[in-house]
Amino acid sequence: MRAIITGGAGFIGSHLCDYLLGQGLEVVAIDNLLTGSVDNIAHIHHPGFSFIQYDVTNYLYIDGPVDLVLHFASPASPIDYLRLPIQTLKVGALGTHKALGLARAKNARFLLASTSEVYGDPLVHPQNETYWGNVNPVGSRGVYDEAKRFAEALSMAYQRYHGVDVKIVRIFNTFGPRMRKEDGRAVPNFIMQALRGEPLTIYGDGSQTRSFGYITDLVRGLHLLVMSALNEPVNIGNPQELTVREMAELILKITGSKSELVYRALPEDDPKVRQPDISLARRALGWEPEVDVREALRLTVEWFRRSL
Ligand code: UDP
Repeated sequence: MRAIITGGAGFIGSHLCDYLLGQGLEVVAIDNLLTGSVDNIAHIHHPGFSFIQYDVTNYLYIDGPVDLVLHFASPASPIDYLRLPIQTLKVGALGTHKALGLARAKNARFLLASTSEVYGDPLVHPQNETYWGNVNPVGSRGVYDEAKRFAEALSMAYQRYHGVDVKIVRIFNTFGPRMRKEDGRAVPNFIMQALRGEPLTIYGDGSQTRSFGYITDLVRGLHLLVMSALNEPVNIGNPQELTVREMAELILKITGSKSELVYRALPEDDPKVRQPDISLARRALGWEPEVDVREALRLTVEWFRRSL
């Protein structure tokens, strides 16, 4: 089998490259390196692997047969999509269109990397896949949420009108090695601050919650999903819910850091709660997370320490 991974040099994309190569697939990674990095794929010396530096919002031509198109290209951290709002909308809209067009032309399966952000600041808790969400379309955060919501709608249209075998994964907060140190998200921020002995910056009062999953659990779920017969959105995430303050305290404990917690303004439209209902993934894919958040943090802290 031959897979195309857009965003293949990103955090999740590069782990997916590793996993699929390990499963015996050939992999072509495509990335414009806007937020991805060749450092994430520099360790791959597999004969079945190749990399193309390209912006997938442009027409996508790939020679030869393709079995899977996995669309992971997008800025994915709030600071990135606030900095790159037009690119974020373009890759969700035009990039998804090009990736779907490639899947259609090659008669390949298509997997869209969607997000828990489609639920916005949710009024239903925990979130299951039937919830339509609560998104501010004109807020600064809306560029990512609406891009992914449009991408889901376009993917479903390609399934209904062009018969493309479409899978949609709604990815909840995921962390692990290869996240950028300056990524801006809570876990890399807190780890870097703790390791440098700087204060940990809590936005708001830290009572907002997230449910953090580990990267190896996610990619295992992605592989199960793409090989499944499921054609509807499915949540993949770890339902173990923590407040942001609890997460910061856990990172202090694991790093042994004496850093203090400081409080900063809460970003606009920051969701107050988030927890995946993973009944569908359990039932349809036999998937559930295996790595406990403490163990996941230990592994991630070790990686950040080494890379410092
Ligand atoms: N957050 C924080 N301090 C930081 C970075 C993030 O308190 O240095 C908060 C952020 O406001 C949000 C939560 O942590 O409530 C998770 O943020 P992240 O950017 O990791 O992911 P997302 O908001 O996309 O879930």
